[in-house]
This record gives sequence, structure tokens and C-alpha cells, in this order.
Amino acid sequence: MSTPFVWHNGRIKPWAEANVHVSTHALHYGSSVFEGERVYATPRGPAYFRLAEHTRRLFESARVYEIEVGYSEDEINAACLELIRANRMPSAYVRPIVFRGAGGLGVLAKDDAPVEVAIIALNWGAYLGEAAERGADVCVSSWNRPAPNTIPSWAKAGGNYLSSQLIGLEARRNGYDEGIALGHNGLLSEGAGENLFLVKRGKLLTPPSSAGILAGITRDAVLTLAADLGIAVEERDLPREALYSADEVFMTGTAAEITPVRSVDRKAIGKSAPGPVTKALQQAFFGLFDGRTEDRYGWLSVVDAI
Ligand code: PMP
Repeated sequence: MSTPFVWHNGRIKPWAEANVHVSTHALHYGSSVFEGERVYATPRGPAYFRLAEHTRRLFESARVYEIEVGYSEDEINAACLELIRANRMPSAYVRPIVFRGAGGLGVLAKDDAPVEVAIIALNWGAYLGEAAERGADVCVSSWNRPAPNTIPSWAKAGGNYLSSQLIGLEARRNGYDEGIALGHNGLLSEGAGENLFLVKRGKLLTPPSSAGILAGITRDAVLTLAADLGIAVEERDLPREALYSADEVFMTGTAAEITPVRSVDRKAIGKSAPGPVTKALQQAFFGLFDGRTEDRYGWLSVVDAI
């Protein structure tokens, strides 16, 4: 899985040298914030998708937990570009992470305790494997997402992913590709690592950003592309049964991209194959990277731009 170089605390270093101590605070208390980003091979060369938005969310997550990143957003953007150049990668999944380092084992890190920053680039294909093509078989998890006044869902923090692991482990154990969680109010929230969309009578429906979800950057892109395509969109509270009567269901995320769902709790969705709205959005989304969709919003950052 390794690639030649990692960016760690301000410099590019060989993969094997990018290490931390076992007393690292984040290891004990989940005090990390991170991003998942993709670099696509485009006709103009490798290009990040919405790099600036990811970096902004990283800094917003850090603010919630009062973690001083120690670099500017511009510096992190430049480091992300530099790492892809150093690794000579045509495409990649990129993981910037900011975390409290080794500086004592108190739950509250001391004011002068270290913060580390790393950026890792991996070769990573479709997150949900072949489900991305055929459609995923998903379940509604018996685990709910944390209530908004417990662990804030807008902050993409390492500790949040304990909830995702419970949802994902249960789903996998029971033979599903992925699990969808309900929120504290019993309404639909999101998948273990993806936002959720339904299509009903041609209209695109998605739980609101207040539904205990991560405000996904792919989710935002899909909402924008849908508006461009003239597809009606509604962000609103949705009960579990909305899944069972939906014409189409799909999930979005940087890793999952746009993954169609073909069944929920073993009940078939639509014709058990990606529906027309899902396909139109996939075409618009993936078209951004082969040039068939115009990059109207400046979402691509070309790595080798002169
Ligand atoms: N929800 C969760 C819990 C996630 O981990 C992710 C992946 N980052 C998403 C939604 C999708 O967010 P994005 O489109 O920004 O990757």
C-alpha cells in the first residue's frame, strides 16, 4: 500500500520514516482531524478535486477541537500538490491529517503539547469495490449516529469513525457492502463513510446537513450538478421507509464517489440496477475528470499547473 513519500511536519520524507511515538495523544483519545481527497488523471494531468474546500474543512474541524494546525491553508494546499509531484502519481487518494502528538497522557493536552501534520497519498480504487459498478447491498444499522450535542458531525475527527466502524462491522458481518445509520431522532442520516441520496418521482432527496451527517464535499458537488442538470432537489428529513419506496438510492463520498445502491435490507431498489438519475449524475461527475463536463466552478486543481 505504501508510496515513496509522505509529507510530515513540513517536509517530504520516505514512507518508512514518517512515524509517531506510542504516547501520541490522538492514539489514546481520538484527537485527530483529517480529510480524504482524490486526485484524478485528467487530460491536463493529475488534478485534485476541490482541494481548497477539503483544506478549509480540515481547518474548520481543527477549530472545533482547538487544535492549532501550525500551517496556513495555502501551505497545506501547496504541500498536497508537492506530494503528488514527489510521488509522480497520475491519480491518488490523499489523506491529510492533523493530530495531537506525544506530549503527555492527560485527556486535555497541555497548551504547549505538539501538533503533528501529515499528508499521505495512496493508490486507492473504488472504496466499495465492485459494488460501485453493480450497486451496493446495504442495511440500516442497529447503531445510530451520535446526537448533535455529543460528538459534532461536521468536524471530521478521528474519533467519529468509531461510530462508522460499528456500523460498517455489523454490515459486513451480515453480508452487506455498507450500513446506513439513523440519527438520534430516528430519521435517516448517512452511511458509515458516505452521504445518502434518494430519488423519488424524478426528485433528488437527501437528509439535511443538520441530520448528524458530515457536510460532504461530494454531496455538495452532486447537489450543484443536479441543479445544473435541471433535477429538482430537496434537502429534508426522511424516515427510514423512504428508502424502501425510493426509485433510486445512491451514496456519495470522496472514496465512494457516486455508488449506486441496489438493495436496502435485502429489499430491491428500483430495477436493482443504477437508475437514470444516478447515471446522469455519475456521468456529469466523472465527466469532470475526462473533460466531458466543463469545470464551471473551478473544482479542479491541476498538480503541474505552471
Ligand atoms: N459522511 C462520512 C461519515 C464520511 O466519512 C464521508 C467521507 N469523508 C462522507 C460523508 C462524504 O464526505 P466527502 O464527500 O466530503 O468525502
